[in-house]
Amino acid sequence: MVNSSRTIGFIGLGHMGGPMAANLVEAGHRVLGHDLVPGLLDAAAAGGVEPAGSSAQAAAAADVVITMLPAGRHVLALYREEGLPAAARPGTLFIDCSTIDVADARAAHEAAAAAGMRSLDAPVSGGVVGAEAGTLTFMAGGGEAEFAQAEPLLAVMGRKAVHCGGPGAGQAAKICNNMILGISMIAVSEAFVLGESLGLSHQALFDVASTASGQCWSLSVNCPVPGPVPGSPANRDYRPGFAAPLMAKDLGLAAGAARAAGVDAELGLRAAELYAAYAEGPGVEEDFSGIVRAIRDRSRSLRPLTAPEGGTA
Ligand code: NAD
Repeated sequence: MVNSSRTIGFIGLGHMGGPMAANLVEAGHRVLGHDLVPGLLDAAAAGGVEPAGSSAQAAAAADVVITMLPAGRHVLALYREEGLPAAARPGTLFIDCSTIDVADARAAHEAAAAAGMRSLDAPVSGGVVGAEAGTLTFMAGGGEAEFAQAEPLLAVMGRKAVHCGGPGAGQAAKICNNMILGISMIAVSEAFVLGESLGLSHQALFDVASTASGQCWSLSVNCPVPGPVPGSPANRDYRPGFAAPLMAKDLGLAAGAARAAGVDAELGLRAAELYAAYAEGPGVEEDFSGIVRAIRDRSRSLRPLTAPEGGTA
């Protein structure tokens, strides 16, 4: 139970928002929830969330409004077209935890300010497991005062919250981090496939690279081949984990930002292309580390065909 219980409007009770809202209830806050999917409202109600008839209804009664929506267009539809901020009491803090484009995040801040509201962009990393366990990392953009006001709530839903700067800075940190992650997973996967073709065992490469300069999260925690890291998704046929379509989405945002900013992010742009293709194909329901299989398959098609038995190549 918290000392200062707040009333929170929580919009978007999906894979991430559902458990985040439940953790706020568990910590003693009153949570008014809304989602377009009635079944999700029922599930949230079972965890103590009070179902609201609409987003505006949830916002009208709230001290803080949290949104956890699929993409920027959903956030801007609520903030701008549907005028959600205007439904709240003046000075209400709006925290958007969705992963969206930096420009969209800034537009959401502007819409909130125009309605007399305070706002923060606060995307997360840590996935559904982190949302359930309350161990997310928040990357926040907005004013010092807004961050200070949000911190006690972020501490309920996560283990770490970093104030990254002004409006949009949280989203900027998120897409930069995930650009590193996507590129590094491809690098690790290519190295394993190259090692295989050179007769190197997965374990030998892991033992060297995980204690040498090739060490990174994609190798030592989310290792893309089965064996060396028992908890990695590769050991459960690449069930997520961090789903490939979400990686493709984040790399798409990073690529768009790089193009708009005029940054020569060659690997980031290429990683976005590779993940887009993988996520639309075999990776649609896989962990993002499953891209190693796509790289292995493409490599096979590059190798010269061996001579058919009794014939010449
Ligand atoms: P999700 O699709 O499971 O949940 C989003 C929910 O928002 C849905 O239930 C949808 O019905 C609801 N919604 C959409 N428009 C709405 C509206 N106008 N009013 C009310 N509800 C509305 O998505 P998720 O996996 O929970 O992800 C949410 C955000 O978190 C995304 O931006 C995603 O990129 C980001 N994220 C996800 C993960 C992950 O592992 N799932 C990890 C980090 C960040």
